[in-house]
Amino acid sequence: MNTIKRLITSVVLAVGVFGLGAAHAVELQWFGQSAFKLTTPGGKVIMIDPFITKNPKTPEALKDLSKLGKIDLIVVTHGHGDHVGDTAKLAEMSGAKVAMNADMGHTFGTLGLVPYKQLVRFNKSGPIKPLGDGITITMVRAEHSSELLHADPATGKKTLYPGGEPAGYIIELENGYKIYHAGDTGVFADMAFIGSYYQPDLALLPIGGHFTMDPAHAAYAVKNLLKTKTVIPIHYGTFPPLKGTPEQFKTALGDFPTKVIVMQPGDAQKF
Ligand code: ZN
Repeated sequence: MNTIKRLITSVVLAVGVFGLGAAHAVELQWFGQSAFKLTTPGGKVIMIDPFITKNPKTPEALKDLSKLGKIDLIVVTHGHGDHVGDTAKLAEMSGAKVAMNADMGHTFGTLGLVPYKQLVRFNKSGPIKPLGDGITITMVRAEHSSELLHADPATGKKTLYPGGEPAGYIIELENGYKIYHAGDTGVFADMAFIGSYYQPDLALLPIGGHFTMDPAHAAYAVKNLLKTKTVIPIHYGTFPPLKGTPEQFKTALGDFPTKVIVMQPGDAQKF
């Protein structure tokens, strides 16, 4: 009898202590390239660089945008098509706020891609809390370019519009967990500032090369500048020029004590 009582007490305690904790995990689903669906410990849903319907790496089953469920916020790192992706459609479907650099925000607003009332236009080192007190988003530098190539829906004519400056984001969640999404970037010395000032728990880093860091540059960034405990490699294998591989990245890291998580498109990972 006593044994059963003790067992019941242990189970009740375990549910009390760990049950709630399990429901508060951070969940990150990768769609390939730089696109993620982030579900926060408080149940908010943030889409990052949502390149989904035209993404060759996104599993077909995930290309039905209506199945994404609710979206509270969309963040876009820069104006290139493989990052802007389905932003306008998702903004229309969900009514979510859309955060991006202030200048590209004007391009989105004036073209009518996203209504101004949904846009959160901001810039570097000015943290914002578009979802209330629990979540802070800070824009950081990226060493890249940004322009928006937009096709007129009536004529199909393509025109280039200003995309402001490219960016990365530090996303701090309700439980203090910090994610650094680097956007598209080359390596730059200010990554040391990002590593020491924000101390991200997890970095999402491009390794494909050609338009961004290749595996060797990304490994240098981790070892010498960011020193992040956990890294997920992104922006590789989607198109032929993006030749860098996670294996090359791991080899370049050598025995440096950073955990590399290699995701498959469609995978969801809890932290
Ligand atoms: Zn780009």
